[in-house]
Amino acid sequence: MQSNGAILVLSGPSGAGKSTVIERAAPHIGAFYFSISTTTRQPRAGELHGREYYFVDKARFEAGIEAGEFLEYAEVHGNYYGTSLAPVKEALEAGKLVIFDIDVQGHRLVRERLGEIVTSVFITPPSIGVLEARLRARGSDDEQTIAKRLQNAAEEITALEEYDFVIVNDDIDAATNAFIAVANASRYRPSYEKRAAFREQWLHN
Ligand code: ADP
Ligand code: 5GP
Repeated sequence: MQSNGAILVLSGPSGAGKSTVIERAAPHIGAFYFSISTTTRQPRAGELHGREYYFVDKARFEAGIEAGEFLEYAEVHGNYYGTSLAPVKEALEAGKLVIFDIDVQGHRLVRERLGEIVTSVFITPPSIGVLEARLRARGSDDEQTIAKRLQNAAEEITALEEYDFVIVNDDIDAATNAFIAVANASRYRPSYEKRAAFREQWLHN
């Protein structure tokens, strides 16, 4: 049953190390589909349209909302971020593990809609002070943006209880290993429909 589609939601403040952890864990977690979100924020240096995000303007994003294209969307730091439904459905139907890097609002919505196949993990640096230092060291945000991200992080940390797992990203190797364990386990969460089908065939063979 473990080859069936499942969802792994990864949340945590911007600067927590989500991208770094996913990149390092990728060779060790089998085939997965990383959901590429759509956003109205500006690309950072080195980010590519269609790789990190689909970068669109506000009008295009709002047209997508109207057309029901999003599985979920949220406003974060004054920009829209959303997950397109179609590629996620396709990947799930193909039995893949789908990984989302979304905020706490997005996690709530995905849980509401697809909860039975969702495993979630919240990743965070050891403290808000360390988060601030990493955002500065990353060098991709101006002072105002960093202040906004820290304020948002202080709000996001209140949602810690809603997650199945919490990874404190102090040492990057330890955090990556923890993420690999969670990602591999998340495949063992079949939908109720799959469990029922398995039970039927189990009883008749
Ligand atoms: P996110 O994707 O959550 O926004 P990033 O993966 O971009 O975060 O990480 C933010 C910054 O922190 C990057 O510059 C990254 O290299 C650095 N970083 C990530 N994990 C660690 C760690 N354990 N120790 C020190 N720096 C880290
Ligand atoms: P960043 O600007 O650092 O790439 O992302 C900012 C925040 O938006 C992060 O918390 C990230 O998890 C969240 N985010 C990225 N894509 C999505 C999405 O499609 N939906 C939601 N709800 N949040 C997202």
